[in-house]
Amino acid sequence: MQPAANLNHAAVQVEDDRTGLTPETLKRAFLDNLFYIQGKFPRLATQHDYYMALAYTVRDRLLQRWISTAAAYTEQGSRTVAYLSAEFLMGPQLGHNLVNLGIYDIVQQAVADLGLNLDELMEQEAEPGLGNGGLGRLAACYLDSMATLEVPSLGYGIRYEFGIFRQDIRNGQQVEVTDKWLRLGNPWELPRPEWAVDVKLGGHTEAYTDRSGRYRVRWIPYQVIKGVPYDMPIAGYRTNTCNTLRLWSAQAPEAFDFEIFNSGDYLGAVQDKLSSENLSKVLYPNDNISQGKRLRLAQQIFFVSCSLQDMLRILARQGLALSQFSQKFVIQLNDTHPAVTVAELMRLLMDEHGLSWDAAWDITQRSIAYTNHTLMPEALEKWPVDMFGQLLPRHLEIIYEINHRFLEQVRARFPDDSDRLRRLSLIDESGERYVRMAHLACVGSFSINGVAALHTELLKQDVLKDFYELYPEKFNSKTNGVTPRRFMVLSNPRQTEMLNRTIGDTWVSRLDELKRLEAKAEDPSFQHDWHMIKQANKGDLANYMAKQNGLVINPESLFDVQVKRIHEYKRQHLNVLHIITLYHRLKASPNLEVPPRTFIFGGKAAPGYHVAKLMIRLVNGVAEVINHDPAMRDRLKVVFLRNFNVRLAQRIYPAADLSEQISMAGKEASGTGNMKFALNGAVTIGTLDGANVEIRDEVGAENFFLFGLTAPEVYALKAQGYNPWDYYQGDPELKQALDSILVGTFSRGDGEVFKPLIDSLLNWDPYLLLADYQDYVACQERVGQAFCDRTHWTRMSILNVARMGLFSSDRSIQDYCRDVWRTPAVPIELTDHAQLGETLAV
Ligand SMILES: *Cc1c(COP(=O)(O)O)cnc(C)c1O
Repeated sequence: MQPAANLNHAAVQVEDDRTGLTPETLKRAFLDNLFYIQGKFPRLATQHDYYMALAYTVRDRLLQRWISTAAAYTEQGSRTVAYLSAEFLMGPQLGHNLVNLGIYDIVQQAVADLGLNLDELMEQEAEPGLGNGGLGRLAACYLDSMATLEVPSLGYGIRYEFGIFRQDIRNGQQVEVTDKWLRLGNPWELPRPEWAVDVKLGGHTEAYTDRSGRYRVRWIPYQVIKGVPYDMPIAGYRTNTCNTLRLWSAQAPEAFDFEIFNSGDYLGAVQDKLSSENLSKVLYPNDNISQGKRLRLAQQIFFVSCSLQDMLRILARQGLALSQFSQKFVIQLNDTHPAVTVAELMRLLMDEHGLSWDAAWDITQRSIAYTNHTLMPEALEKWPVDMFGQLLPRHLEIIYEINHRFLEQVRARFPDDSDRLRRLSLIDESGERYVRMAHLACVGSFSINGVAALHTELLKQDVLKDFYELYPEKFNSKTNGVTPRRFMVLSNPRQTEMLNRTIGDTWVSRLDELKRLEAKAEDPSFQHDWHMIKQANKGDLANYMAKQNGLVINPESLFDVQVKRIHEYKRQHLNVLHIITLYHRLKASPNLEVPPRTFIFGGKAAPGYHVAKLMIRLVNGVAEVINHDPAMRDRLKVVFLRNFNVRLAQRIYPAADLSEQISMAGKEASGTGNMKFALNGAVTIGTLDGANVEIRDEVGAENFFLFGLTAPEVYALKAQGYNPWDYYQGDPELKQALDSILVGTFSRGDGEVFKPLIDSLLNWDPYLLLADYQDYVACQERVGQAFCDRTHWTRMSILNVARMGLFSSDRSIQDYCRDVWRTPAVPIELTDHAQLGETLAV
């Protein structure tokens, strides 16, 4: 890659402080990179060239830490977390790296001296959107915290050529556009082709007896695919630690191409190559839904096998024995997407490294920990046994053997309980046969955790009840967290500055210290400043909405925000029902005293999820009517912000007054958007779901707007027979709202458009919108009244921020380290390059 170009130059500069942090050194490096890497001089350079030059300047400074970190881990053989995740929703890297290196201000000044604007340069970066939503973003926050806490770790995932699609809105509807994030090059990665590995797919197995008379199995694959690692540096906040995110890219192996080339089938060879590269071509755009596609299973085994082979290479490189695998590594499975790890590690240890079943199983079970992320049945991954066996014949055999031994144990503990055996089996045999990935993960790991207290309880009582009865000691809860570096320091510089001025800047890595703000909650001058900061942030977002949506937004209005993936269980349409109700009330009683409100939505719908797409259309239909109604001017506005991604998230959270967390209780495992909003001074309206429960406990019931059925009440209502029709008939305002949608008020008179959505609500309503409607609308009235009392609202806002300490991803990672990983921190000393040169010379 590019660095070759400036090696000579680096040699000349060796005497200087080449990666120094003074403005002069930074400017010099920036211009050198523009010249020697981008090959441009200022008159021809684009903003993107300048961005690249700056990115390389920052990367050079990361590399020094990266190399020192790798050297220390290698020398010390440090115990390492391998965080396996099909998704890493990293977001833009430049700004975040500037924050973590502690050079944001100095770089801002340095580029300004050169006549450039740092914000504009940061806008040039293509966002690495290698995830769908919360799960992928959690993985990214955890990498930041592991590096900040000096925990040796490797993130392992897939280098999708196309990340999550870009969302466009045309005629009020979502249109998906491919995300070509690599088009202009990615300065934040280093390809490591020398560490490429092969992954086998398809074919069949053959049993044989080896020379020592042992039963062995050989797998003759139909296809081999090469995985090439691309490394991204993950710098900790003001530490020398720089860990690695290793993403695998699929390629056709040369050997196979040559065979076909030699047989003269030139086009066939190219075709074969294409289908191999398909493996890492595109991220599946489903959040909380499993599609059961063959290519998706192939992606999973691909990155799992690459990662495990990489770990075995590192183990050997450090001179450690296979038996030391579980001392060297702890593997955290981020949901079941990498659950095939259980079978693949067994296969590698037995078939490729000659261990016995018992030795391999001992290592496997000691090494793997599993995080469950969902209570949604449609998100629990299961693969048709036939498909699984065709793609992974050896893994299916291993899974059958694991299952056989596992069910023997169950039978011994619970004799004559065939129902229990059926429920626990790794194979679902109730109809078409499926491999249940969550069961595989539970049996193969030493730790099983949920992502919030309520979620973990529901796992124990319901989704994984039988496993809890079998292995209570494996279960633990790890409430999610978010990184304050990206979601405060980078995204909300005004509030950051005020916090620094008030309590010093140590809260950035010790978020508990925000507690000290409580003393200021009643201070009128502090409250005034706090309010002005929120207003300024709202002003910024109003400007953005003016540009994006062509709307004039009053920054004094209540910014009522729901941004997250669009999903029926998240109930964006409950929010819409409230908007329509408020609209009807204002039409009927123009003198009604309610504060002006701006309802802001954002989020992507899975391309094949029709009802979710209808929900987007409904928001835009309601927006069209309300925003064009002269009677609603200065009273209500509705905005759908297109293409919600990490970059947009960073604009939105700091500008919110009200955070909508209104999922049906028992469905949202944790949520992390709820934490980002509250950390940025928004007050929550929410149900007792996911981490909302803990957020409310922390901030105090008086600073949280609670409504809706609890999880037990949801179960009870469903058990007694829920009939949405009763609520529809029993509440005139609810009926009016639903009827107005049905007759086409928000679809230009077309009564067909939203029929599937309304039919589903009236006939089935699986997420109990109608049952929660009245309480929600009443709660929103209290929100409106509270907002009119500025002092009261500002106090709530301050206390929300002051009490968010628990929800730092640093706390989550410390909990994992203490309870699950047992990984000591490894502080890094920077090695200097001259010393490295001396080692070479020896
Ligand atoms: C935090 C975040 C999410 C998760 O939001 P929830 O409200 O917890 O569902 C999704 N997407 C992006 C871009 C985020 O930053």
